[in-house]
Amino acid sequence: MGGQERLRDYRGKRDFGRTKEPEGRAAAPGSEPRFVVQIHDASTLHFDFRLQVDDVLKSWSIPKGPSDDPKDKRLAVPTEDHPLEYEEFEGVIPRGEYGGGTVIVWDHGTYQPLSHDREGRPVDFGTSLDHGHARFRLRGSKLHGEYALTRFREGLDESWLLVKVSGSTARIQGTPDPRRARSARSGRTLAQVADGDGQE
Ligand code: MN
Repeated sequence: MGGQERLRDYRGKRDFGRTKEPEGRAAAPGSEPRFVVQIHDASTLHFDFRLQVDDVLKSWSIPKGPSDDPKDKRLAVPTEDHPLEYEEFEGVIPRGEYGGGTVIVWDHGTYQPLSHDREGRPVDFGTSLDHGHARFRLRGSKLHGEYALTRFREGLDESWLLVKVSGSTARIQGTPDPRRARSARSGRTLAQVADGDGQE
């Protein structure tokens, strides 16, 4: 299934005449895969965790946000694939539109796929996600190091866990207060983005 096909759910939920969210484009070949963590002040405040796989961002909603403490197992609920440019999206989705509310880019960067089979051979990252377990090393401005995503429930309430793989635990930060956290793109808080973009 191509990226354009994979974005059908994403596009079907949105009116691009009303929201400034992106419609979607193709991936630049050969570049390192990207990740982004957004804070989204919608009907419930949550984090959105997205990993580039080919020409879409595979996406999970994480109510409590990612933690760099290996003891924290964070619930991650899959959401529809998003276009690659969504990594840049920060602003206000109009009230009444799908996901209406303020979004900031809390962290972004690249990641190194680390998924292996039982014999220790590397496996295709998208395939490892299809099979329900993927490991990767994040290289962001806030999140660094190895993480694992593991599906523990399938079906209508499909659910995953995002966990930091123990390793360098020198400076554990946990998860910051999403109301005080600042954008990795603009340095702004949710409230500052809401004030700046919500009045246009
Ligand atoms: Mn969201």
